[in-house]
Amino acid sequence: MAEPFIKSQFPALMEHSPELIYLDSAATTQKPAAVLEAVQAFYLHSNANVHRGAHALSIKATSAYERARAQIAQFVDAESPESVIICYGTTHAINTVAHGLTHQLSPGDIILVDGAAHHANIVPWQQLAKRTGAELYPIPLLKNGSIDLPAYQALLQRGPKLVSLNHVSNVLGHANPLDVLIPLAKTVGALTLVDGAQAVAHLPVSVRSLGCDYYVFSGHKMYGPTGVGILTGKRQSLEQLEPMMSGGEMIKTVRFEHSEFAGLPNRLEAGTPPIAQVIGLAKAVEFIQSLDRQAVAEMEQSMLRKARAGLQQLGYFVYGDPGNCHGALAFNLLGEHHQDIGTLLDQQQVAIRCGYHCAMPLMEHLGTKGSCRLSVAAYNTPNDIDRAIEALAIAKDMLSE
Ligand code: PMP
Repeated sequence: MAEPFIKSQFPALMEHSPELIYLDSAATTQKPAAVLEAVQAFYLHSNANVHRGAHALSIKATSAYERARAQIAQFVDAESPESVIICYGTTHAINTVAHGLTHQLSPGDIILVDGAAHHANIVPWQQLAKRTGAELYPIPLLKNGSIDLPAYQALLQRGPKLVSLNHVSNVLGHANPLDVLIPLAKTVGALTLVDGAQAVAHLPVSVRSLGCDYYVFSGHKMYGPTGVGILTGKRQSLEQLEPMMSGGEMIKTVRFEHSEFAGLPNRLEAGTPPIAQVIGLAKAVEFIQSLDRQAVAEMEQSMLRKARAGLQQLGYFVYGDPGNCHGALAFNLLGEHHQDIGTLLDQQQVAIRCGYHCAMPLMEHLGTKGSCRLSVAAYNTPNDIDRAIEALAIAKDMLSE
C-alpha cells in the first residue's frame, strides 16, 4: 500500500496538506477517519454505560467494548482478553503496577529502571521506592544511549525485585534487545515491566513471547484516541497487583464492613471506563492490521536513514545508534538552542518536537539539556523528509547569519 494512499485516510493531515509536514508522531499520531467515525458512531448510535444496564443499548455497548478488548488482546498476543486491563494511558498503566506492588516491596529491595526511560517509567518507581524504602538504580547506558549489557548483568547480581525497561526509546528510537534483557532478569527472579508506548505502532509485539510480567502502551501513539492505554502481561503477575483505584465495577460484593474485589480484568478497572476510546482503539488496531506492516516498517526506517544522512550533511549532530532506529531520531545543531530550530521549522510548517522529551536523565547522559526530535509514522512519505531537510537547511542558514 503506497504511503500517499495511507495519508489520504487521515483527515487532519489532508486538511493541512500539502503545507504541513507532520513529523511529531512519537508525541501523538494522527487519527485515521475510521477511528474518528467509530468513536462518533458509538456516541451517535449505541451510547450507554457498560456492564450495568439490563437494557438493549447497554448490552450493545458492552459487547462492542468487550469485542474491542479481545481485538486488542489479539493484536499484542496477550494471554487472554481478561489479562488486558483498560487504563487511561501508559502513565496510568505504569502507576497501576507501581502502586499495585507496594505491599510486595520492603526496605532495601532493589528496582532497576532503564537509563533511557521516559519520566512516566521513572517517577512512579521513585514514588514506590519512597513508600516502601526500596532503592532505585538506573541501568547504565553506553555513550550512544543503548543499554550497557555487562553493567546490566552486574546490577542483576544484586537481586532486583523489579526491572523496568523501554521497548523503544521515545528519544533515540532504540529498540532494546528484550529477548536478552528479560530472560536475564528472570534468572534472578525479578518482575519485568516493558514500556511499549513507542513500540506498538512500529514493531509487531507478542507479549507472550516476550515473557515479561507487565507490558504497557497508549492508544494515542498508535493511531487511536487519547484517554486510553493498556496494561497487560501474565495473569498471575496482574493478579498480584493491589488495585490502585477502588470503587464501582471492580467489586464482587460491598458491605460497610468489608468489600470483596472482582477478578481480572474488572479488579483493576474501577469506575466507568473510556468506552468510546476503547472502541476507537480497536479500530486503530484494524487500521494497523490493514497495512503491510513489514513494508511500513521498512519505509519508516528508510525515511529515518534519509533524515539522518541529510542532517549530517548539513552539519547537524544526530544522536544514537544508526543501526537501531525505530520511529524517532534526535538531533541538535551544536551551539544553537534546539527550541530555535523547532521554531524556525514551525515557521516553515514542519512540525517536530524540541525539549527534553520527558527523559531528562537520558538527555543528561547524552550531554545536553534538550534536542530536536523528528518522528515518523505510516502516513509519512520520503517527500516529507525532503521538505524537513530543506527547512533545516534554511534554519541553519538563518541561525548562522
Ligand atoms: N513512555 C514512553 C516511552 C512515551 O513515549 C510516553 C509518551 N511520550 C509515555 C511513556 C507516556 O505516555 P502517556 O502520556 O500516553 O501516558
